[in-house]
Amino acid sequence: MKKISLFIFLICIITSVKAQNTYILCGKIIDTEKGVIKEKQTLVVNGNKITNVFNGYILPRDKTSKTIDLKDKVVLPGLIDMHVHIESEHSPKTRLNRYIKNEADIAFNSVGFAKTTLLKGFTTVRDLGGTGVNIAIRKAINAGKIPGPRVFTAGKALATTGGHADPTNGSSRRLIGNPGPKEGVVNSVEDAKKAVRQRYKNGADCIKITATGGVLSVAKSGDNPQFTVEEIKAICDMAKDYGMHVAAHAHGDEGMQRAIIGGVKTIEHGTYMSDKTMELMKKHNAYLVPTITAGKEVEEKAKVKDFYPAIVVPKALAVGPQIQGTFAKAYKKGVGIAFGTDAGVFKHGNNAKEFGYMVEAGMPAMEAIQSATITNAKILEMENEIGQLKKGFLADIVAVNEDPTKNINTMENVVFVMKNGKVYKKK
Ligand SMILES: [Zn+2]
Repeated sequence: MKKISLFIFLICIITSVKAQNTYILCGKIIDTEKGVIKEKQTLVVNGNKITNVFNGYILPRDKTSKTIDLKDKVVLPGLIDMHVHIESEHSPKTRLNRYIKNEADIAFNSVGFAKTTLLKGFTTVRDLGGTGVNIAIRKAINAGKIPGPRVFTAGKALATTGGHADPTNGSSRRLIGNPGPKEGVVNSVEDAKKAVRQRYKNGADCIKITATGGVLSVAKSGDNPQFTVEEIKAICDMAKDYGMHVAAHAHGDEGMQRAIIGGVKTIEHGTYMSDKTMELMKKHNAYLVPTITAGKEVEEKAKVKDFYPAIVVPKALAVGPQIQGTFAKAYKKGVGIAFGTDAGVFKHGNNAKEFGYMVEAGMPAMEAIQSATITNAKILEMENEIGQLKKGFLADIVAVNEDPTKNINTMENVVFVMKNGKVYKKK
């Protein structure tokens, strides 16, 4: 028996050594750690990892290895979006869909959204809330059943009664019921703890709270505070016990301050963030996830008749146009910026428009790319695995036609996508 297992062991070693190498010849490479562009580099990929990086073009000596020619491209690490909703895409039917769609319907739609996102160069996303189908999507992607980005998901977001993520907002009284912590509606410290534990049990990777009112919920205020500091603190402490960080949706300043003091890692949108709150962000090492693309989208769609319910329109017109300006101010003040878009509020696949809006607001292109790679990798505690093209890192590799520091819009046209060592797109 011992001889047989030794034999199998040796076979395994031999086959793993012989596994095919892929040599990727890169005309230019973006070194996200140093913030520089390097010319003529070769990346060697074996399995799902980058096993070597060489200066100059190196060709394989053995016959089993493959070569991918990206000599006329600019190559960068797979992009990371910290705020998507992989389950849905907003339309005038969104409210009705809540009552007529089953989880299976949602799942089939999500398959397409996940694929689109990946093919646009986003190899990792943080999903900030849906029905829980997002957890199944993550599992299906990881198991290789469907193509999609690596997903970190919050499952169902947490809200207070009538708050931004209360799933029964705007329903007829017959349908409202009394959603509790299980459905993500909490109204006390005890509820808050229970809801976090429930998310863990369901298989969430992180926690999302709606610290203030929001634009697209069927409710009057888009910015009022909706949690007490004590509730947020309980959520953050509990999340920490389970190895999860907390993301807070917030437009209003008071709710934002409570969220930061309570211990959240990221503030989503941050629309009415005051100077004082920006200082608080820096002090607590919290990051702003700008979602400028979503701001532009809601402003535009609010002008389309009946696209949103009437109660949403004034909120969209007030909040949407503010977001880019707040981002510009926060960036100048030195607040940490984590690239995130809120895809799903607009069409999946348009995530890279955010780069252009960030640059337009005053952030250098290289820093915008760093925020979508190394910064986001750090928040996801994967800074030694993704966000850089380095030996030992996962082979998440994308390419664009032009130098994005000269034309940032090239980021919207990703021509090559490799995730985990597998090629999904090559034009
Ligand atoms: Zn969102």
